[in-house]
Amino acid sequence: MSAECVPALREQQLGAALCQAIARDELRLLYQPQVSLESGEIVGVEALMRWTSAEFGEVSPGEFIPLAERCGCMNTIGAWSLRQACLQTVAWQSAGLRPLRIAVNISPVQFRQGDLARDVQAALIETGADPSDLGIEVTETALMSDPGRAKAALRELRAIGVQISLDDFGTGASSLSALQSMPIDMVNVDRTFVPDVTASPESVSVTRAIITMAHGMQLRVLAEGVETEGQLSLLAANGCDQIQGHYFSRPVPAGQIEAMVREPKVLPARYLRRRERQRTLLLVDDEENILSALKRLFRREGYQIVTAGGGEEGLQRLAEQPVDVIVSDQRMPGMSGIEFLRRAKALYPDTVRLTLSGFTELQSIIDAVNEGAIYKFLTKPWDDNLLRSHVAEAFRLKELADENKRLTAQVAHANAELEALSLRLSGLLEAQREQSDLLAASAAGARKMLDDLPLAVLGLDPEGLIAYANRAAVQLLPQVLDAIGGMADDVFPALLGQRLPEASPTVDLRIEGRAYRALTQPMDPAGAAGQERGRLVLLVPQQDGEAV
Ligand code: C2E
Ligand code: MG
Ligand code: MG
Repeated sequence: MSAECVPALREQQLGAALCQAIARDELRLLYQPQVSLESGEIVGVEALMRWTSAEFGEVSPGEFIPLAERCGCMNTIGAWSLRQACLQTVAWQSAGLRPLRIAVNISPVQFRQGDLARDVQAALIETGADPSDLGIEVTETALMSDPGRAKAALRELRAIGVQISLDDFGTGASSLSALQSMPIDMVNVDRTFVPDVTASPESVSVTRAIITMAHGMQLRVLAEGVETEGQLSLLAANGCDQIQGHYFSRPVPAGQIEAMVREPKVLPARYLRRRERQRTLLLVDDEENILSALKRLFRREGYQIVTAGGGEEGLQRLAEQPVDVIVSDQRMPGMSGIEFLRRAKALYPDTVRLTLSGFTELQSIIDAVNEGAIYKFLTKPWDDNLLRSHVAEAFRLKELADENKRLTAQVAHANAELEALSLRLSGLLEAQREQSDLLAASAAGARKMLDDLPLAVLGLDPEGLIAYANRAAVQLLPQVLDAIGGMADDVFPALLGQRLPEASPTVDLRIEGRAYRALTQPMDPAGAAGQERGRLVLLVPQQDGEAV
């Protein structure tokens, strides 16, 4: 057997085994949590297929999925995984678990050869699963090989509430803008674009650009393959919406997902995108069934939902708690929707207000829009996806305004602090100036006192330089004026007839034939440092005979 035959043979045998895998009960699904960076909670899971073959043991999806595509059984196992996932959501629902969306990977083959929309709907109907508990992950290749067909199928699925994710984004050739017209809700950024803290600033900017652009297109962003805390904190800081990866959990059997949700296992709070409180949505409508349909529509968006049956009650709800976005009916008994939103604007100008109405009384709407009472006017019956994205946009707008306000407040606070600081500083300077004025005044006072003394006084600085001579000293020794600035030891012999030894405080000497006693008086050391301040030499005239 030649070397090339071995892989070909293995492929043949493996292919044959794979086509029997369903019948032999060798396939199963594992589930990997998809976690919100806003709430930290598991919001969904990705279904990942595993094959344990009786003959070949564990075969990786990287090997058997392309094989299934080549040997023609991809449609069959694709339909199997859709059905399994639907059964699992129903099982979780009946076990009382909160809604959890299962995202199923769809092969390009399922688009090309099968009728994806029909297959998905068949699985939903057969199992009784809620379409909004199901998501599908499709790749760019699948979309772009026959864009028209893909678009039609995805539109159909999205219309019934199935979430569409673009898988492995970044590995294909298309840009987000090329996908703009595709009906998708979420972008799964491939793990090669999930930078760690050690990554270059350029690769972080690429990830940030993908996130910003996706948000600009009203798409949410999930980062795949998150393994480290560094990746997590970078993603959170750059506004990513969800993460999936080994950091939180590897793919696990359904039972372990249930345990994690019940526990609940959540992301550490320090990694969550900063939000002081939960987004709050106020729904106002006099029809009970509309309120419950809207509540159902928004229940998985993570908003805190508050409802009111009319304008008066709506105002009451607004008084009870902070609200970010209001969606109000127009025609209600008592107060009209526009009147209610007008009052809401006057009382809570920061709220973002939308009208959802079946009636269009043009003039009052134009007036309300023009005076800024309403941000958007939407009509009943509504399109679920459109309404969801309008409300999401309203929250983003509100958060942007909040952020601006926060920044403005921060700047104002910083300015106030700066002003207080400069005030304190100028106060300090003023006090310092006053003190030095005082010192100068007292120095001048001391100097004047010394000048008025009838005794000759010479001042020496700590180094022994002659620094000062009072009036009497200048009268007695006129040459002293030239000696100021000279070293006393050098100048004194000429001036006083001898040096003055440092050790002895009194020395008798004669000047101009008269007897003087030189008294050396050290000046008080100044300050805590006890610095030497120099000496004063007093020349006290002696009665003749007193001198030695
Ligand atoms: P995918 O859809 O991109 O799935 C994510 C893959 O990344 C999974 O590999 C998952 O186990 C792996 N992964 C998750 N977190 C991390 C992480 O932190 N680090 C690393 N290194 N890997 C992580 P898996 O399960 O081997 O699946 C590989 C691919 O096979 C999937 O890529 C998907 O394209 C395909 N596949 C799996 N199940 C199905 C299926 O039921 N139908 C179809 N059509 N394709 C499937
Ligand atoms: Mg996937
Ligand atoms: Mg992927």
